[in-house]
Amino acid sequence: MNIHEHQAKAVLKEFGVAVPRGFPAYSPNEAKEAAKQLQGSPVFVVKSQIHAGGRGKGRFEGLGPDAKGGVRVVKTADDVKANADEMLGRVLVTHQTGAAGKQVNRLYIEEGADIAKELYLSLLVDRVSSRVSVVASTEGGMDIEEVAHNTPEKIITFTIDPATGIFPHHGRALARALNLKGDLAKQGAKLLTQLYTAFLAKDMDMLEINPLVVTGDEKLIVLDAKVSFDSNSLFRHPDIVALRDETEEDQKEIEASKFDLSYIALDGEIGCMVNGAGLAMATLDIIKLYGSEPANFLDVGGGATTEKVTAAFKIITSDPKVKGILVNIFGGIMKCDIIAEGVIAAVKEVGLKVPLVVRLEGTNVELGKKIINDSGLNVIAADDLADAAAKIVKAVKG
Ligand code: GDP
Ligand code: MN
Repeated sequence: MNIHEHQAKAVLKEFGVAVPRGFPAYSPNEAKEAAKQLQGSPVFVVKSQIHAGGRGKGRFEGLGPDAKGGVRVVKTADDVKANADEMLGRVLVTHQTGAAGKQVNRLYIEEGADIAKELYLSLLVDRVSSRVSVVASTEGGMDIEEVAHNTPEKIITFTIDPATGIFPHHGRALARALNLKGDLAKQGAKLLTQLYTAFLAKDMDMLEINPLVVTGDEKLIVLDAKVSFDSNSLFRHPDIVALRDETEEDQKEIEASKFDLSYIALDGEIGCMVNGAGLAMATLDIIKLYGSEPANFLDVGGGATTEKVTAAFKIITSDPKVKGILVNIFGGIMKCDIIAEGVIAAVKEVGLKVPLVVRLEGTNVELGKKIINDSGLNVIAADDLADAAAKIVKAVKG
């Protein structure tokens, strides 16, 4: 689960992390009020709050190419209001939002920082070493993927073993990686401990600070923060769940989570309903192999009931991009005849406006196929994975 920048900063602040003062704002008037609260700051920063990065270099739809991006530094409370007026409700397109962009529904109004240097720092779960990876670079403020591509030597990585925890040598490694000296090195070590503590306590799976800045008066502050949490541990963090902003999430994914379906929206045209994550991945691969693109990943799970299959069907058919549906079920614990009945019931309830290919294999497969053939519905039966992929791609592409 992702949260907004201002929420991430509030979470980090609980752990003692130095962040600029700021207030979220949902209207131009609130934005102006926020700026007044921050009086004393020579400049204010008006920051779009969307679940995507690259906001600074992003472009608003409907404003010319010369208009300012999604992060704006302005001088007065009235400027804050005027910019808020222009930004709120408008769609911001960044390299992370895709072409469709994201509507800006809230802003974060912050006191400005006097930036001497921009650095990069992130913590993430490294599945290979089973540790927390620390990634640091002196090249902050820019797209880290670009730094990794052009100057990989400028990215330093080390790991922290959760069994033994954080040690002073990790702090020294960070200071070396970021070229921090004297008191700044001490601030860096302290920050790393705070971030690591927050990371573990809140079950984060990614914490990215870009930029981490050194100010003119030699202070280290977190200027941007992006955090995502391990969904499997949200049950023990009601405070984090309360930060969820469903308007930032795919509606189909929200609906799927209500039925305990593992669903991820993709960009293609073939809707997929599969049981088992491995089989679902293989199904996506073979659709591509046969020349089309999947519209989603969907694992209905081992114990798929008629209700679940129906819910899955509704979600798949609610996607206007879907031009055909491929059901690929391996009946193991679940019997093929039960699945066939579930699919038929779902099709009868939801209706079917696009071609549907069903491939069943496993326990009671013959009975399952007979149920589908006898249903009178326009369902194309397939024998194996390749046959199923070929048939659905042909049905869609003609
Ligand atoms: P992102 O583009 O979505 O990653 O948003 P950031 O929060 O990283 O902001 C983009 C850039 O805006 C930063 O890299 C800074 O260069 C600049 N910026 C953000 N806050 C301030 C600030 O307080 N003062 C100044 N001068 N620049 C800022
Ligand atoms: Mn950033």
